[in-house]
Amino acid sequence: MVHGSTPAHEIVGAHRALGAAGQADMVWGHAAVRDPDGRGLWTKAAGWGMEEITPARVVLLSDDGEILVGDGPRHIEFHIHAALLRARPDVGATVHTHGEAAAAFAALDVPLRPLSHDAVPFLAPDVVRFTATSDLVATRSLGDALADSLGGANGCLIPGHGMVTVGPDIATAVMHAALLERACRIQLMASVNGGPAVWSSEADVAAKQRGLWSATQLSAGYDYLLRKADAQFGELDRADAGS
Ligand SMILES: [Zn+2]
Repeated sequence: MVHGSTPAHEIVGAHRALGAAGQADMVWGHAAVRDPDGRGLWTKAAGWGMEEITPARVVLLSDDGEILVGDGPRHIEFHIHAALLRARPDVGATVHTHGEAAAAFAALDVPLRPLSHDAVPFLAPDVVRFTATSDLVATRSLGDALADSLGGANGCLIPGHGMVTVGPDIATAVMHAALLERACRIQLMASVNGGPAVWSSEADVAAKQRGLWSATQLSAGYDYLLRKADAQFGELDRADAGS
């Protein structure tokens, strides 16, 4: 497993976990973690698939996108992560993916319902949607607008594009992406023939929001995704993985 304590190892593990969770879109989509020394954000270099990320394919970017460590190139949409980390001191990690179920569900333009445990972290009472553009979040101002839309939420849909999720740490941010994608997929399944007809009560959702997705549960789910990535993509060579 790539369970490193350094930001670069966290970035490697996060992308492999997202790949194992089915969120890869060829070479698009990315996760980031806040630099503990305040220099900016760690993320993957552009041009590589999630399962292809090694420590050599990780970059440290300043808040305005200057490559401080690593070879790049940087992703055009690094502004998503920079803006979310500027806006949310409580957030340590961010994820942007082009999840297929998220895109398909967002196109229905109906409320996200608590059909399973997966939707619970995102309902207040509906999932947030960023609708200023479905184009690339390629500027600082669009990143800031996305952060405004997200507010204090755990994640939001971007209709016509994908999703973003956040967390205090990389395990939570990645698990939020996995949960939001699954929640969207389950509602798509239930939408056949005009459904869904029933979903969890407001009282059940409130109770679940208080304790269901604890840090322990999220960490256990993330560890599973890391093991699944090893089984699916092979473990990194020691030389690649570093110490
Ligand atoms: Zn995108």
